[in-house]
Amino acid sequence: MKKIYCDISATTPVNEKVIDLMASIHKNTFGNPSSVHKYGQESHVVIEKARIDIARTLNCHQEEIIFTASGTEANNIALEGLVKSNSHIISTTYEHPSVMNVIKNLEKKGTKLTLLKPNKDGKIDPKKIEKEISKNTQLITVMFANNELGSINNIEKISEVAQKHKIILHVDAVQCVGKLPIDLDKIKIDMMSLSAHKFYGPKGVGALFIRKGINLKTILNGGGQELNLRPGTENISGIAGMGLALSMACNNIIENMSYVKKLEQLFIKQLDKYKINYILHIKDRLPGVLAIGFPGIDGQSLLISLDLKGIAVSFGSACSSGTTKASQILLDAGINEDLAKSTLRISFGKIHTEDDVKYVVEQLSIILKRFGKKSYA
Ligand code: PLP
Repeated sequence: MKKIYCDISATTPVNEKVIDLMASIHKNTFGNPSSVHKYGQESHVVIEKARIDIARTLNCHQEEIIFTASGTEANNIALEGLVKSNSHIISTTYEHPSVMNVIKNLEKKGTKLTLLKPNKDGKIDPKKIEKEISKNTQLITVMFANNELGSINNIEKISEVAQKHKIILHVDAVQCVGKLPIDLDKIKIDMMSLSAHKFYGPKGVGALFIRKGINLKTILNGGGQELNLRPGTENISGIAGMGLALSMACNNIIENMSYVKKLEQLFIKQLDKYKINYILHIKDRLPGVLAIGFPGIDGQSLLISLDLKGIAVSFGSACSSGTTKASQILLDAGINEDLAKSTLRISFGKIHTEDDVKYVVEQLSIILKRFGKKSYA
């Protein structure tokens, strides 16, 4: 059976060159990067090279990047390390659990929390953020692109609001690093989280950008690695793999974006060709990420039928999978409950071909025909 993985937003397969590099590091560069001898020095060089590569692609200083064990860990280190108990945080209702659960815990300890809902376009209005600012507001944390909707926030405008009021801005950019160009010299984000497995790198390695001048308290105790913010012997091969994966994604970012957008247009053209009834929720979205409703159809059943045909998609995000309830994120974005329950996230990337896209729609059409007439326009 043909297998097509259309869940690029959940994770990506690791690029072959990244696998080769990591395998050679596992074999040859095993010294502890903190050791003084040559073995240690070689490992240290590998880590610093990755740091330089990542800083170059994001246009920041290498001292501003710390490596972490995931995007989740980067979010925890940033938020818990910064926020004072009697302060105020402005965030959104649709943050990833690795932000949401941290700020909710901070709220329990006395921090005031304001959560803003997205508009119908899936974006957070910078003006609404500005309205909520009070004299105690210490932090604004807003994700760059939403993991279920694929909508992209106007982080440039939000950063202007944060700067105007001298408030620290943290951005969870896990979904869009490697998919959209990000220039940290131009956009004044103070802290930004990323994760390698979203851009064809390995799982279990992430990074946090911390702009010079931002001081975080340490939330993990250990041997002092990574500015004492993420102590523990470094994942040398993972870090190197992340550096290479990000360089490759960003060196060809414009070409990749237009290739994936072309696939997306083909997908939509094919849906129309097969006269499939669908509603695309978000217009301005990450390349290749489609939150798409099939009115009258149960999204979970559709996901399972597609899976039986070898096609992998999501109902909500990977983190919320397994639930049959309508996604709260879709409801908050003004999508009604029935339509939310009929919505799948289908995400394409540079690994796909036009034939893959045509095959997916062909199978979708066969399944929907079986489901009944309602699914046809
Ligand atoms: N933030 C967002 C927006 C995500 O989509 C994810 C993962 O799906 C994460 C954070 C967590 O990243 P990681 O899987 O590296 O912990």
